[in-house]
Amino acid sequence: MRTLIISDVHANLTALDAVLADAGEFSRVLCLGDLVGYGPDPNQCFERVRTLPGLQCVKGNHDAAILGEIETLAFNNEARASLAWLETELSLANRNWLSGLDELKVIGHITLAHGSPRNPVWEYILDVSTARKNMRQFETPICLVGHTHLPCIYQMEGEHLLSTRHQQMVQDEPFRLEYKSIVNPGSVGQPRDHDPRSAYMIYDDEDDSWTYHRVAYDVSQVQERILAAGLPKRHAYRLEEGW
Ligand code: ZN
Repeated sequence: MRTLIISDVHANLTALDAVLADAGEFSRVLCLGDLVGYGPDPNQCFERVRTLPGLQCVKGNHDAAILGEIETLAFNNEARASLAWLETELSLANRNWLSGLDELKVIGHITLAHGSPRNPVWEYILDVSTARKNMRQFETPICLVGHTHLPCIYQMEGEHLLSTRHQQMVQDEPFRLEYKSIVNPGSVGQPRDHDPRSAYMIYDDEDDSWTYHRVAYDVSQVQERILAAGLPKRHAYRLEEGW
């Protein structure tokens, strides 16, 4: 069975559709949160994601913010502006669906969290010391996270923490995770590793292999919709260079 792994769609339908078209056949989807925020297509993204086969999804910080579950003072001004816009846009049905999501989920041998297993909605795993502390916070061999929008893999080989940062990630080549691992597939809708292409992963349980992929999408279409919606211009500009 092939599993599609996506994170941080951020209301970017063009990017999401590019990923779904590129991913081939899959019978399960693991989604690591932040379906909304920044982008112009919140309801359309929900409707697309909610119909995906075998969907398992956790809640991100932007998702929690629109539900009023967390304080938005920690958000920057532009993220707050897009939340105010989202407040008027998001349908009740989609809001209700979002409110039913968990912050942490265990699916077989995989734990799902948006930020980290220790602090699922908020914590960013950006360095080895944070990754090391989080290795003790989940019971399964694998934990998938998003939130940083930077693809990477941390693996615990005995006492050694091995890290594969976004600069070293190899595309389209299946690999195995031999040790306890924290894996970030990168962001579908707002990559921040200076590669504007959408990022995602595939897990194939037939041979226990993982594959990391990038796919280009029509950024200019999304930029036009961001500007037409009156969302902050910076949300549009950052997409073309991926920051
Ligand atoms: Zn995000």
